[in-house]
Amino acid sequence: MVSRTIPVDPFDLVIFGGTGDLARRKILPGLFRRFCAGQMPPQARIIGAARSELDKGGYREMIREAIAEFGGDLTGTEGRLDPFLDRLDYVAIDARGEGGWSELAEMMKGTERIEAYYFSVAPALFGDIAERLQKWGMADDRARIVVEKPFGRDLETARALNKTLATYFNEDQIYRIDHYLGKETVQNLMAVRFGNMLFEPLWNSQYVDHIQITVAETVGVGGRGEYYDKSGAMRDMVQNHLMQLLCLIAMEPPARFSPDAVRDEKLKVIRALEPVASHHIVRGQYQAEPMNEAENPGYRTAVENPRSRTESFISMRTEISNWRWAGTPFYLRTGKRMAARSSEITVVFKDTPHSIFEEDAGRHRNVLSIRLQPNEGITLGVTIKEPGPGGMRLIDVPLDMTFAEALDPEDIEQVDAYERLIMDVIRGNQTLFMRGDEVEAAWAWTDPIIEGWEARNDVPKPYDYGSNGPTDSEELMRREGRAWREVSE
Ligand code: NAP
Repeated sequence: MVSRTIPVDPFDLVIFGGTGDLARRKILPGLFRRFCAGQMPPQARIIGAARSELDKGGYREMIREAIAEFGGDLTGTEGRLDPFLDRLDYVAIDARGEGGWSELAEMMKGTERIEAYYFSVAPALFGDIAERLQKWGMADDRARIVVEKPFGRDLETARALNKTLATYFNEDQIYRIDHYLGKETVQNLMAVRFGNMLFEPLWNSQYVDHIQITVAETVGVGGRGEYYDKSGAMRDMVQNHLMQLLCLIAMEPPARFSPDAVRDEKLKVIRALEPVASHHIVRGQYQAEPMNEAENPGYRTAVENPRSRTESFISMRTEISNWRWAGTPFYLRTGKRMAARSSEITVVFKDTPHSIFEEDAGRHRNVLSIRLQPNEGITLGVTIKEPGPGGMRLIDVPLDMTFAEALDPEDIEQVDAYERLIMDVIRGNQTLFMRGDEVEAAWAWTDPIIEGWEARNDVPKPYDYGSNGPTDSEELMRREGRAWREVSE
């Protein structure tokens, strides 16, 4: 494989929470891959920071193990791990205390490199870290901060967090991460929409019947029960990931592919979203796996809250009130313990208005499906004549735009969402990060929906383990003469 990777400028990346799950599973294995791809310049340093009393050697060993466990296919990286680990340093630091801060400030002093601070810690610590970075002289103009989700739990807390961060950093220094935006296919979606003449003229309510966005997971809440039960699918998935996908599919063409041009257009979409009526929402909680309850308990058992009213599944119908989309339903759906792990955006075009073929009774519709995981790719369903004799019988076949099929797979450099986004931070490119006003607008839309459930004491409907959610979710579509796409891997 010929790497088309362009090295980034020298940088120091401090990872607060450098011993945590996210750092070990995603951030450091991702950085290792970028190192192997030649993107990391020789002077780059990565500094883990957490309370655990480790020295540099201990941290390097921890990350060696993490890369072995979570680094995926390491073929071709032989001999590269030790030079990568040599870049790693560690400082024991308490985000809420004073211990370790002078040591970190000393490490960061006097370099001309880009400084990035990744807040891979609980959001309750974001303000403490920002404040101490300033106090210890690290919040200078060269500094960039990366903040993880969740960004607040409602409009009020998100506003407060934006305000706190704005005390120490300018908006162009703040990178609010949503790893869905770093996925290859999400960027491909923009390439397809804005790099072709073919789609854009049809991309409106005149030609599009409806759009579906599904993010289905097979996992349950796992060890995150306590956090998840205070959050639920709406806060954990819809307010951020599904909303971001909705924005990219629905936004007007930005004047250029630059951070503020893109984010301005996304913000307009969120602001044009209609409030969602309660009969257009279905909430669910998964049940235990039959005959295997001990291993795969139901939602309430998993979160140890027998009276929980938090949803592990949600589907809804919404509309965007603007000239392009008025009258076109957007259906969103996400849940845990569903039939398959699958994330997909589907644009269902309207039926052809009239069939000219005598043998063909039906009308035909094109379906564009943008698949995020697994098997990333884009497929367009088109109607053709069924080959062979027997008249003009029509069939629908997929026109596959999966880039792996069209390009030599050997030639494609696989880049995980996190590694792409971290490199964007170093490059100073905010296009794929959420701006503060976007996040607030998304909460402004979700808050009244959540408040409505709370006011009504709404109880989510149970749904079977490994299903597609409560049957009401199918009904949400059926009563409008539509159907969800099958959830499959
Ligand atoms: P985690 O496994 O609990 O790790 C938390 C990290 O913070 C540890 O390194 C911990 O190390 C450190 N820490 C805790 N208190 C500290 C303090 N007072 N001062 C300094 N360091 C402290 O959490 P995580 O799963 O990695 O998640 C980190 C962030 O990413 C959270 O905001 C989470 O919502 C977000 N996120 C995680 C995932 C994921 O897949 N894990 C996905 C999306 C978003 P010590 O105990 O040694 O201090």
